[in-house]
Amino acid sequence: MAVRDLIFCVRSITRNLTANCCHTWNAYIPGNTALRLPPCCSCDGVYVSIKAFFRLDLRRLILLLAFATAAITLINGLYASYKVQRQLLIDQALENNFVYASKLAASTDNFLDAAQQQLAYSAMEITSQLHDESMLFQTAERLRKQTDSFNSVVIVDASGMVLATSPDTLQLQGEQLASPGALQALKEQRPLISAPYISAVGNLLVSISQPLFSTTGEYLGYIGGSLYLQKRSILNDLLGKHYYQDGSYIYVVDQNKRLLYHPQPDRVGNIVYNNTVIDAVTQGKSGTGRLHNSTGLEILAGYAPINNAGWGVVAQSPLSSTLTPLNTLMRTVVDHTLPLALITLLLIWWLARLISRPLWQLADSAQSMDESGSPNRIQDVRSWYFESSELKRAMLIGVSLLHNRMGKLQLDAQTDPLTGLSNRRGAENTLTLLKHEHTPFSILAIDIDHFKRVNDTYGHDCGDLALKSLALLMRACTRKDDQVCRMGGEEFLIILPNTNEQVALELAERLRLKVQNTEIEPIGKITVSIGIAGWNDQKVDTAYTLKAADKALYKAKAGGRNRCEGHHSAG
Ligand code: GH3
Ligand code: MG
Ligand code: MG
Repeated sequence: MAVRDLIFCVRSITRNLTANCCHTWNAYIPGNTALRLPPCCSCDGVYVSIKAFFRLDLRRLILLLAFATAAITLINGLYASYKVQRQLLIDQALENNFVYASKLAASTDNFLDAAQQQLAYSAMEITSQLHDESMLFQTAERLRKQTDSFNSVVIVDASGMVLATSPDTLQLQGEQLASPGALQALKEQRPLISAPYISAVGNLLVSISQPLFSTTGEYLGYIGGSLYLQKRSILNDLLGKHYYQDGSYIYVVDQNKRLLYHPQPDRVGNIVYNNTVIDAVTQGKSGTGRLHNSTGLEILAGYAPINNAGWGVVAQSPLSSTLTPLNTLMRTVVDHTLPLALITLLLIWWLARLISRPLWQLADSAQSMDESGSPNRIQDVRSWYFESSELKRAMLIGVSLLHNRMGKLQLDAQTDPLTGLSNRRGAENTLTLLKHEHTPFSILAIDIDHFKRVNDTYGHDCGDLALKSLALLMRACTRKDDQVCRMGGEEFLIILPNTNEQVALELAERLRLKVQNTEIEPIGKITVSIGIAGWNDQKVDTAYTLKAADKALYKAKAGGRNRCEGHHSAG
């Protein structure tokens, strides 16, 4: 047998904290009436059904449906808009970084072009005057001071010996240069931008150089300007003017993936491996990319090459800072949506109550349709919409049919089929009701004299006829409020409300005479004996009064029949 529900006694559970109660938990077995549970036999507590507690009714279902729909729609809307906005922001950040990197690359290209041009012009000027020391010094000074393009300028002959420098604090004049940049310039004898190297005086720099050739094409040396990478230089000024405030930054790498510019100066000069963006930009590509930086942060990067130098500019911003406005936006959206959502839920809750109320009331009435007040309860239900009003109409018809049928059954159960009088059950109900209402009454216990002889002489059918005739006589002799009953066989009872024993005795006498004088075809005349008893004491049971009337009847029989005897006169 399956257990469908668990019921438990509330009081036992609380008591069980200190004492044991064997009736704490019980299983509801199908077939038992869970709704009419007896009190807990251990503590008289009330049982509660878990199933009833979690019962799904229409109101809860509507609420659940509305809540689920609202929640799914809201979450789905928020999620979709979050996804779209997120992608939009990421795309925008990538595009911004790309545009910014391209712009910086173009500016740096222009600057390097201009620097090369300055050096080329000066180279052309000094090739014929390499012996003029002061002129070389002036040229170096002019190049360094005129435009701020270079941190230092050096003019070197074909053997690598320094002819002039600016500033002259470098103390290099007459020295033989052996730095990588100098050796590269001397070796390659062409305009070039060197890889970063540490100069003779200990500065990390790149050198921009222009070869010096005589009119006959003989290599005479070079003129070079340097850009310091770790100190203030025009390159740092150019790249360091970064206006973003959201954690984004730029860096520049040379063709060997070495950092030429980075917001953290100590990283300048380091080579960066395993970086897809740097790999791409050093191959001369431009574009955008998403990657994780050295600290594991997800980064949105835009990159562009500086073609003149073979360098690359990367502008990047952390994904988290890109998405910060979105998170704020979403919080604002939720903050603005929640109150309305709550109000909507309250409205739905109220509407669900309104919709389910008539159905709930009808369902509740359906559980007690056999009770007398149920038609009124159903009538009082405010069925304000079609389904509920149809249901109400059907229930009213149903309950009216049920009550009619029940009334008829009740009548049948209390009616004697032969005479149409109330039977013993009807008589007992009337007596109980009178006692309940404190209505004093008297009763006549009536028995046909020698009825056996009637049956024996004229047959059972004629006996029945006599019983019916007597019933009619008794009805004729009594008032509307009096109740005539057939208690069984040829014994009858007449209940006379608000009648004392004396008056009842007089009525009994009239009835006896009427019966005695009435001819019943084909039997002729019959007689009855009557015992009378009265009730007006609330402490006395009605059964006792019945017995008293029977006793008086017995006395009437014993006294010779066809006579009336009162209970009090019966002694
Ligand atoms: P007494 O004067 O002492 O009352 O004698 P009695 O013959 O009337 O009483 P008894 O109790 O000896 O007999 C009752 C008879 O009533 C017996 C039975 O045949 C008859 N009787 C009981 N019920 C019916 C009925 O429904 N129809 C008919 N025709 N006779 C019935
Ligand atoms: Mg009898
Ligand atoms: Mg009799």
